[in-house]
Amino acid sequence: MAVFEYAPAPESRAIVAIASHYGLFIGGEFVEAEDGHPFKTVNPATEEVLAEVTAAGPRDVDRAVRAARAAQEKVWGPMPAQDRAKYLYRIARIVQERSRELAVLESLDNGKPIRESRDVDLPLAAAWFFHYAGWADKLPYAGLGPDPRPLGVAGQVIPWNFPLLMLAWKIAPALACGNTVVLKPAETTPLTALAFADICRQAGLPAGVVNIVTGAGETGAALVSHDGVDKVAFTGSTEVGRQIAQTLAGTRKRLTLELGGKAANIVFDDAPLDQAVEGIVNGIFFNQGHVCCAGSRLLVQESIHDEVLDRLKQRMTTLRVGDPLDKNTDIGAINSPAQLAKIAELSEAGQAEGAERWSAPCELPQQGYWFPPTLFTGVTQAHRIAREEIFGPVLSVLTFRTPAEAVDKANNTPYGLSAGVWTEKGSRILWTAERLRAGVVWANTFNKFDPASPFGGYKESGYGREGGRQGLEAYLAH
Ligand code: NDP
Repeated sequence: MAVFEYAPAPESRAIVAIASHYGLFIGGEFVEAEDGHPFKTVNPATEEVLAEVTAAGPRDVDRAVRAARAAQEKVWGPMPAQDRAKYLYRIARIVQERSRELAVLESLDNGKPIRESRDVDLPLAAAWFFHYAGWADKLPYAGLGPDPRPLGVAGQVIPWNFPLLMLAWKIAPALACGNTVVLKPAETTPLTALAFADICRQAGLPAGVVNIVTGAGETGAALVSHDGVDKVAFTGSTEVGRQIAQTLAGTRKRLTLELGGKAANIVFDDAPLDQAVEGIVNGIFFNQGHVCCAGSRLLVQESIHDEVLDRLKQRMTTLRVGDPLDKNTDIGAINSPAQLAKIAELSEAGQAEGAERWSAPCELPQQGYWFPPTLFTGVTQAHRIAREEIFGPVLSVLTFRTPAEAVDKANNTPYGLSAGVWTEKGSRILWTAERLRAGVVWANTFNKFDPASPFGGYKESGYGREGGRQGLEAYLAH
């Protein structure tokens, strides 16, 4: 098959002004750390240092929590709900207005293709603020009792795969419900959260309502264990989520956890195959596979296995891997050397355990962290690549014969975040979906998000829901 050659179409980075050094955003201003230390954030596509950022120490976290408390009690909590809504609408509009700048910044710091940051992350981040702005003055009608009240101060810890979008998922509902927040972005992707701090200033948000403390795991641990935090919201690995749940056990703090996944993407023999192949590609190669709900286990009905694999390999051959700022790029850089090492280690385990590895032929850049789009066939349910979250562009292909076997295999995982079903029969979609133990089930599509739709997991994928009316519950006492 002929593959089109595309001339480079780089997005200009001139729209972004990155400072050489950033402090912490506490009490409405950028301040230097009292007991923190500087660290660097790099562009994973080039290894270029983008900025020096500050890791907050325990005293800094304490300052941020106290600023959030004062703002909650004196300003944000007592404020009429309609006025809180106005601030959220203002933030939503500024995110939209500055979306090109934020998209470029996200791609620089995270390595994701500009097409995705521009067309997915940014529109959804703005949509989240618009959605929850609408809820701010309608909380008594959310079905959570006639007089729902804010919890107080929320400590929020987010990962590096969708930095600004995860910030929006956390901050928008918290503020709409009258809480104030201290948010810690991931160590490798702090820049859009710091840009968001500037947006809060631009929106005139009262000081202390949003505080951003950058840093690594220790900063996150200091935040979630701080006595002044009433609610903890965490998105990240199951391992750290489990540690946080243990730390908080027996305390009065409320906790929601959005953890890992190992989603099954089930393709029945009556599925529209061209669409299914697009859905498989989108399911696992979107955002380099750094997606908690990625369709990382393809369950394909045995009778169509060979045909699906042929078409899939052909499609994977056309994926363009490279410069995240090029508008033609499909797959960008792996976010960090640590993540690259994890993907490589699990892929080697797949080979060692007997699965057959195939990678799309592509030239990887010399600098930066890269992994080619890869699939494994001959995978069994016992293989590590069928059980563990790889969090990279690696698909494990398994087969099934009957719908019951598909459901059994799909549910045979400690996780339960998402799943996909491809078939032309509506009755089969419903039959399958009601048997899948997954928080989200997509039918004839994959990786679709909407702020009105709740998202969250079963089992080791965590608990609590984010998004929609259900997402309000995590931030309200009722
Ligand atoms: P982590 O769970 O370690 O990171 C998530 C966030 O928690 C980051 O902000 C992190 O800071 C912070 N953190 C780390 N340790 C603690 C702690 N003890 N207390 C409070 N906060 C803490 O994920 P990693 O980035 O280390 O990725 C490891 C693996 O986790 C990945 O390979 C992937 O499999 C999975 N993962 C899954 C995600 C999902 O959404 N399902 C998201 C991210 C990762 P810091 O960035 O400094 O480590």
